Amino acid sequence: MIQLINKKIQKENVKGKFILSHEHLNFDLTHIRKDNTSLIKDKKLIKKELSFALEQNLGLIVDLSNQSMNSNKRKICEISEELNIPIVTSTGYYLNDYELNNKMTISELENEFYKHITIGFKDTNLKAGIIGEIATSSDKIHSFEKKVFQAAVNVQKKIGVPIYTHVNLGKLGYDQALFLKKISVNTKKTIIGHVDLIENIDEILKILKLGFNIGIDTIGKQSYLKDEKRIQKIIKLIELGFEDKIVISLDISRKEYLKSFNGHGYSYLINNFYKEIKNKISKEQWKKISFKNILRILDF
Ligand SMILES: [Zn+2]
Repeated sequence: MIQLINKKIQKENVKGKFILSHEHLNFDLTHIRKDNTSLIKDKKLIKKELSFALEQNLGLIVDLSNQSMNSNKRKICEISEELNIPIVTSTGYYLNDYELNNKMTISELENEFYKHITIGFKDTNLKAGIIGEIATSSDKIHSFEKKVFQAAVNVQKKIGVPIYTHVNLGKLGYDQALFLKKISVNTKKTIIGHVDLIENIDEILKILKLGFNIGIDTIGKQSYLKDEKRIQKIIKLIELGFEDKIVISLDISRKEYLKSFNGHGYSYLINNFYKEIKNKISKEQWKKISFKNILRILDF
């Protein structure tokens, strides 16, 4: 079953044509980024933005906003119910920089994640259906980050929940994957995120060969990487036989990426990216990377 924020559903009952596998529907990162753009709290605004993707038959959204991002799960549930769009939300902690005062132990983290998945977030019966996005920094894997990863794997061992990670700006992706492998993560139920930003395709292949799924999930963020490079990577990886291992998304994490602020918005995946890639891969391959793969991973 797929655990949505407000109910469980069979994966066969997810309708629509595509899924956004890594998004943030209610979050505030301004306290660390020291800006005023890394914040989306306005339900009306996000509903309007999502309506553009719904017109294109968006079937489900994976929201990876977690405890480090001050996410309001009730608001996320309201978005789901008011727009009638299934949403899977997450539990977890982000980069070390966001949690410098967090002294939680592995077992405390584990208990919290477990509770969010099986009982619900504080004072609600809304539940997480994935652990994410849990992160490693660019310079090293900090001890807090290791604790979060270990706690996530412990919970996954108990109940099979999927995990979605954050690789920071293309750095230490393989180290992160190796660390997870060492602590016996279920690679089939784990997505290493932001792999598009890893420059060297051989490093991406090493991650895939460990058995992980990968997220090409910062599509449209052209200042980080031109989308033509993302398309080249997807084509190469498909050629090498990894079409069952790729999930895609936009990771809209700043107001300026929204249409209302002259950004590319949620409809970009279909209006722009799909148009560029559709003659280069088959329909079935597109269906896998934009829909089927993520549903298989979310099912536990
Ligand atoms: Zn993200």
